[in-house]
Amino acid sequence: MNSNVSGLSEKTRSTDTLSKENQVAKEALPWPQKLRRGLVTLQQLDERGWLNTNENREHLEQAQDALDIRVPEAWHEAIQRGDVELAKQVIPSADEAFFEPQELSDPIGDEAFSPVPGLTHRYRDRALVKITYQCAMYCRFCFRRHKVSHAEENLSFEALQKAYEYIESHPEIREVIFTGGDPLVLTDARLEEHISRVESIPHIDTIRFHTRIPSALPERITEALCERLGNSSKMVWMVVHINSAAELNAHTLSALKQLRRAGVGLCSQSVLLKGVNDAPERLLELFGGLYRAGVLPYYLHYPDLAKGTNHFRIPLERAIALVEELAGQLPGPALPRLVVDIPGGLGKISVSSENVRQVSPHLWEFRSPLNKQWKKIQYPRA
Ligand code: SF4
Repeated sequence: MNSNVSGLSEKTRSTDTLSKENQVAKEALPWPQKLRRGLVTLQQLDERGWLNTNENREHLEQAQDALDIRVPEAWHEAIQRGDVELAKQVIPSADEAFFEPQELSDPIGDEAFSPVPGLTHRYRDRALVKITYQCAMYCRFCFRRHKVSHAEENLSFEALQKAYEYIESHPEIREVIFTGGDPLVLTDARLEEHISRVESIPHIDTIRFHTRIPSALPERITEALCERLGNSSKMVWMVVHINSAAELNAHTLSALKQLRRAGVGLCSQSVLLKGVNDAPERLLELFGGLYRAGVLPYYLHYPDLAKGTNHFRIPLERAIALVEELAGQLPGPALPRLVVDIPGGLGKISVSSENVRQVSPHLWEFRSPLNKQWKKIQYPRA
């Protein structure tokens, strides 16, 4: 367990500030106001006793410089109660200031497959469009932290026209994936520009959103949004990022239900995180909970080699053993694939397949689904 959350209890439970906040939190506020109630400074976290006082302040500031802080209001109460699984995902740690030699600023090679700004075209039939780099929460293990939260990286709708023109000129692209960042932090009006633009492209069949919103800001799943997505001329999928069963509270479950009722296809992606969900019972609870909520667990990601994230990684062989333990304990559709994104942009592969072999305790070899070449990767030891 990360020590920065171990100091949560005494100081935090003795204050009445949070209980007042929690009352306010239960008020029905419009989602933009809820978003603004996220905690965004080290001082705010310190005041609540959520930082480990033993951690070097300079290192914490370096962590914040690399990736903004945003602890969503939806998680405050649980963190205040001492929920380590949630706290570890969003409270910065001094560990982020230390990089392993294998860690990369662009671990999945987005830039290498970006023919125009804001667009990644790695697989033939689909393209990612990054419509914002802002999120409703900032995950300390974020794989795209070289861009995420850095406002100067955001591209306006006008600036993304080249991305849409690229898609128009590539009829092999059948699916557009809105990502970032979190596309659902855009207002309905901004989002509408992007959705209608994609809907106007005849060869696109499917629009997919990659989002953390149902967990971080469930109020964003409004009736108006559901209606718009449900009425789209394209099939709409939402891949929801959720890592812990603790995230599946009543608000999140209700948001997921609204989306499901609107006809939005739902699946999930989770990241295997040391100290958060790296135990069979944790994963069973998470995937079972998602399945019961009508969300198909799709991917379990081994953490990408983003800079300053080694404290979230467990040895890959342990990750494989963990997932093998789940087989037979969950319905088939509730069992996600453990995947690794081969560093450098060589694609995502399922770890239990014939495309992976262990060369030595630290060294693994992966066969790229894109160029079929084997590539050796040394993962740092956790
Ligand atoms: S929501 Fe996604 S993009 Fe945003 S910080 Fe978390 S992992 Fe990164």
